[in-house]
Amino acid sequence: MALIVQKYGGTSVGSPERILNVARRVIETQAQGHRVVVVVSAMSGVTDNLIKLARDVSSAPCEREMDVLLATGEQTTIALTAMAIAGLGKKAISLTGAQAGIVTSETHTKAKISTIAPERVLEALAEDNIVVIAGFQGETADGSITTLGRGGSDLTAIAIAAAIQADLCQIFTDVDGVYTCDPRIVPSATKIQEISYDEMLEMASSGSKVMQSRSVEFAKKFGVIFEVRSSFNYNPGTIVKEETVSMEAVVVRGVSIEKNQAKVTITHVPDHPGRAARLFTTLASSGVIIDMIVQNVSVAGSTDISFTLSKDELPKAQAALAPVVLEVGASGLHAQDGIAKLSIVGIGMRSHSGVAAKLFESLGAGGINIQMISTSEIKTAVIIEESRIVEAANLVHEAFHLSKQGEH
Ligand code: ADP
Ligand code: ASP
Ligand code: MG
Repeated sequence: MALIVQKYGGTSVGSPERILNVARRVIETQAQGHRVVVVVSAMSGVTDNLIKLARDVSSAPCEREMDVLLATGEQTTIALTAMAIAGLGKKAISLTGAQAGIVTSETHTKAKISTIAPERVLEALAEDNIVVIAGFQGETADGSITTLGRGGSDLTAIAIAAAIQADLCQIFTDVDGVYTCDPRIVPSATKIQEISYDEMLEMASSGSKVMQSRSVEFAKKFGVIFEVRSSFNYNPGTIVKEETVSMEAVVVRGVSIEKNQAKVTITHVPDHPGRAARLFTTLASSGVIIDMIVQNVSVAGSTDISFTLSKDELPKAQAALAPVVLEVGASGLHAQDGIAKLSIVGIGMRSHSGVAAKLFESLGAGGINIQMISTSEIKTAVIIEESRIVEAANLVHEAFHLSKQGEH
């Protein structure tokens, strides 16, 4: 008898019929002799609608109240799922994040889990219940409701699996697993059988939103092996775990894309210590999140510094930097949106050469101009024109023969 955590995402619980489908699947798992904890998301579209409602009543909604509002999405699903299970004749109990013992930091709308006290979950399991927990939420030590950032139900599932020492953690979604690229972007993408935490983390944080990146970080830290699979069929999914030696044989595991990016260039920054620090401290204190940073080699005592960020953050960044650009002695600031990022990820990059060259070659052959490049040990990323990102993803996917990867 195993202890299993199953997480069902928004699409999987997107209608009464789908909630009933989840209820049946959970009951099947229990019938195989297992104890089951179910983590559910809000029904698809609900969180977005709640955010829209908040913005309809206030241009800058208070984050504490935002969390009270957003948590209702998952609370609806736990009640409906528990009712559906009970309606099919099995014992079930719903628990909010707080009732499941999830205590978080006070950073509303993107709180971090600090501790989990799962006694109530374990007691409910001992009483033969299927325990249905609200994803994406917790509470602060003094009892305020918090949420864990978009896609945060993945984190709830992995954290609960760690806390109750589950034997298996399954993330059920609307795709069969983690693919070599988002199958909606690259139709020939193939399912990856096994992927390392580091690769999944890089893919998730560079646009493959099939898993929330913080949940993967948590899984790596606590050694939670999990499987991503579909709630609409019984195909085996993708196992995410610590890397094995054989994983290095594949040079590129996957391609990620991220749209809605923007680029800022500060020209002729004097080549003196502290100037870059001044610019980026200003951005940090305004809460602007930066992605890539590129600085040129200094020519004639000055250099250009460029960075990328989400398009939504651009107005905030421009407003923060406007007074500082002149103060540091730079000549100007140029901002541009309409760009996107394409990343290739694979632990095999550590031991193979020519990977970046092949990436650039495939884009060049397609007449796609590269505006910026950044590399890390297991990732190479480029910034290109947004209107060509889908074409680029398909070209690069083909260049690295990823449509065949699943056959290995
Ligand atoms: P859920 O609501 O179940 O959490 P998400 O919408 O968050 O589901 O994640 C599933 C979606 O992630 C898929 O429908 C797919 O379009 C997208 N996706 C992005 N990159 C990938 C990838 N590399 N492999 C599989 N799916 C991906
Ligand atoms: N409902 C939340 C969201 O849409 C959390 C989740 O689905 O994981 O971001
Ligand atoms: Mg998700």
